[in-house]
Amino acid sequence: MDQKKTEAEILRDLKEQFAAQYGDAEDVRFFFAPGRVNLIGEHTDYNGGHVFPCALTIGTYAAARRRKDDRIRLFSMNGKGDHFEEFSTKDLAQEGKSGWTMYPLGVVWAFAGRGMPLPEGFEMAIYGNIPNGSGLSSSASLEVLTGFVLRELYGLPVDLVELAKIGQYSENNYNGMQCGIMDQFASAMGKEGHAIFLDTADLSYTYAPVVLKGRKLVITNSKVKHQLTDSGYNDRRKTCEAALADLQRVVPIHALGELTPEEFEAHKDAIADEDRRRKAKHAVYENARTVQAVRELQDGNIEAFGRLMNESHVSLRDDYDVSCPEIDILAEEAWKLPGVVGARITGGGFGGCTVAIVDDDAVSSYCEKLGRVYREKTGIEADFYIVEIGSGPREIATP
Ligand code: ADP
Ligand code: MG
Repeated sequence: MDQKKTEAEILRDLKEQFAAQYGDAEDVRFFFAPGRVNLIGEHTDYNGGHVFPCALTIGTYAAARRRKDDRIRLFSMNGKGDHFEEFSTKDLAQEGKSGWTMYPLGVVWAFAGRGMPLPEGFEMAIYGNIPNGSGLSSSASLEVLTGFVLRELYGLPVDLVELAKIGQYSENNYNGMQCGIMDQFASAMGKEGHAIFLDTADLSYTYAPVVLKGRKLVITNSKVKHQLTDSGYNDRRKTCEAALADLQRVVPIHALGELTPEEFEAHKDAIADEDRRRKAKHAVYENARTVQAVRELQDGNIEAFGRLMNESHVSLRDDYDVSCPEIDILAEEAWKLPGVVGARITGGGFGGCTVAIVDDDAVSSYCEKLGRVYREKTGIEADFYIVEIGSGPREIATP
C-alpha cells in the first residue's frame, strides 16, 4: 500500500483503471469508507461489552456505476493476481466463490436477504491505502464501502447503522468470520477527531473527542499474520459462549459484559475449566477497563488512559492468548521508550498491529528505535502509521 499517494492521485488512478477494465469511465462515481483502529476494548464486542474504536483517514476507495444487465463486475488494484471477477445478480450463493470478492458479494447477498435484491448489476474498481489482514479492518471498510455504494447507486433505504449490521452479517454468514459489530460500526459511524464509545449490548453510543494534548496515535504493523487468525477468533468466541453458559447456572446474565469484575470474582468458580475462566476474566475486566479509560480521556488524564492500554495488552497476552511473540516485542519494547504513554495490540490478534500514544517530539525516535529493535529481534521491517481520526463513508465529487 502506498501511503503517500494523495486522494487526488488515488482517484485519478482509480478512474484510469476503471476505464481500462470496463471500457470507459463515463458516469462513474467515487466513494470512500475508512478502516479503523480500536483504542481499547478488545474482544468485548461479541460479549455484550464496550469498545472504543475510531475511524481512520485511510481505508478503501471505489469507482462504481450501475449496469443495464445482471452482471456484477469487481476489480481490485490491490493484492496479487485474481484482481478481477465477474458474477451475476441471479447467482449469489456461496458455493464456488472464494477470495476477496466474497466481501463485496456477501454484502450484495445480505441486501438481497433483507428484501433488497439488486434490479441490475454494477461494476466497481477498488483501491485500499490500508494494510490488509493487519487488524485495521480493511475487510469492514470494504463491506461498508460496498453497502454505501449500493445504497447510493440504487437509492436503497438503509441508514449507516444498518450498513454496519449488513456488513457484519455478511462477514459472519458469507465469509464465516464470527466478528462482532465493532469494525463495521466504527467504519460506518466514524467521526473526525472522535472515538466511538459503543455499548455493544444495545448499540447505544457516544462520540468522545480524542484530545491527546501534544501526542499522536502511532500504529505499528508487525507484518505478521499467523494462520490462526480466523479459527482462533472463532474459537475465542465459542469459549466465551461456554463460559457464559457456565455462569448462567449461578447468575442471571445474558452476556459476560453485564458482569463487573467484583461480580465475576464472586461467581467465577462456576467455570470449572481454568482456560475458559481466564478467557472470561479478560472479557469482563477488559470491559471495565474500557469504561474507565473513556472516563480518564474525558477528564484529560492521558497517562491513565495509556496505563489502561498497557493493562489491556497484558490481559490479551496472558489471559486471552491472542498475542504472539512479534506483537509482544512491539508492545513491550514500546513501553521502555521515552515519550510513550501507552501501547497495546489492536484488532483481533495473532499478529497485525499495535497502537500507541506517543509524545509529539518522541514520535520520530519511537519509529526509529522500535523499528531497529524489531528488525534485530525478528528480521522484519515494521511499518509505522501516524494516523488521523477520520469520518465514515462518503461520496467524493470529482471535476
Ligand atoms: P483486516 O480486516 O484486519 O484487514 P481481514 O483478514 O479481516 O483483515 O480482511 C482482509 C481481507 O479483506 C483481504 O485478504 C482481502 O480478501 C479483503 N480486502 C480488503 N481490502 C481489499 C482490497 N483493497 N482489495 C482486495 N481485497 C481486499
Ligand atoms: Mg477484518
